[in-house]
Amino acid sequence: MSELKEFKCPNCGGRLEFDAGTQKMKCPYCDGTFDPDLFNEEIDFTVDGEQWNDSDLLLYTCHSCGGTIMADKDTAASSCPYCGNPVVMAGNVSGIYKPKKIIPFKLDKKEAKERYRKFLQGKVLLPNTFKSEATIDEIKGIYVPYWNFDGRASARMWFDATRRRHWIEGDYNCTETSYYKVFRSGSVGFTDVPVDASSKVKDELTQSIEPFNVREAKGFNENYLAGYLADKYDVDVEQSRKVANSRIANSTASLFASTTSMYDSCIPSSSNIVINQGKQEYVMYPVWLLNVKYKDQIYSFAMNGQTGKFVGSLPTDKGKLVSITLGVFLTVMAALTAIQYVVYLVR
Ligand SMILES: [Zn+2]
Ligand SMILES: [Zn+2]
Repeated sequence: MSELKEFKCPNCGGRLEFDAGTQKMKCPYCDGTFDPDLFNEEIDFTVDGEQWNDSDLLLYTCHSCGGTIMADKDTAASSCPYCGNPVVMAGNVSGIYKPKKIIPFKLDKKEAKERYRKFLQGKVLLPNTFKSEATIDEIKGIYVPYWNFDGRASARMWFDATRRRHWIEGDYNCTETSYYKVFRSGSVGFTDVPVDASSKVKDELTQSIEPFNVREAKGFNENYLAGYLADKYDVDVEQSRKVANSRIANSTASLFASTTSMYDSCIPSSSNIVINQGKQEYVMYPVWLLNVKYKDQIYSFAMNGQTGKFVGSLPTDKGKLVSITLGVFLTVMAALTAIQYVVYLVR
């Protein structure tokens, strides 16, 4: 059973949207603003989605204009193509599909378009398709579903290392090489390791716009979805856990390797990493997405809707993700992450 939820202004009946700038629900008609955590209008849940022609598409009827909204079975939020009314597919954000937390959009569409233009700047040979206003306007705000995992990695690692000493003795250039067996052991705690739980968005893209600052997440409330797109997860928790565990193992290995910088060379010879699983959480994170088709190929761009980190591929640098890093906030977050890792390292 799929039900539709709409967002009506209690003052004038106009359509409410979540405004990234003020972090409030806003009515563009009467300028009314409402707190998304308190706003709870009586909702008419009478409309069920109907399957269309044995496909993965469902048909919904818009409560505002009666138009038919066609959406993928995983769509959790969208808007009516006829009247623009924002809608939420209630069945896809409740029960087992109800996220625990959501990071609301902090950067709006105007900002996303600006970052995209900046990204293209100086790329003279770029085809006009990429620069046209119509293309830029296609950029969409999507809440991407994620599984977040906590875990603790207990690791033992062995390295073959060397140290060299040079000196001159009369006519001779002397080198002394010392060989070491290096051993490191300890445990590292990880919290909120994100794994993109939508098969529709490329993991390559979503990993490149990390990190998200989970501390700013709110308890999930459908009102945050108003005016944006959203998908429910279609990658299950067990499948995602494998991805999280391999990310935890890789981070642990490179963290241990980083403690061997006092040697001139240091190569890992063997390792044993055991991961104790912690809690997992279903969350939604804000992402601006743009796909541009050029010569039968799709070029994808993504921007973190919280931090503004922007990534994308262009025909000139084939498939390679280029990233512009963004100011102070990211640097601070990167530093915080590093500190967290170091604090958890038990020797
Ligand atoms: Zn209003
Ligand atoms: Zn409508």
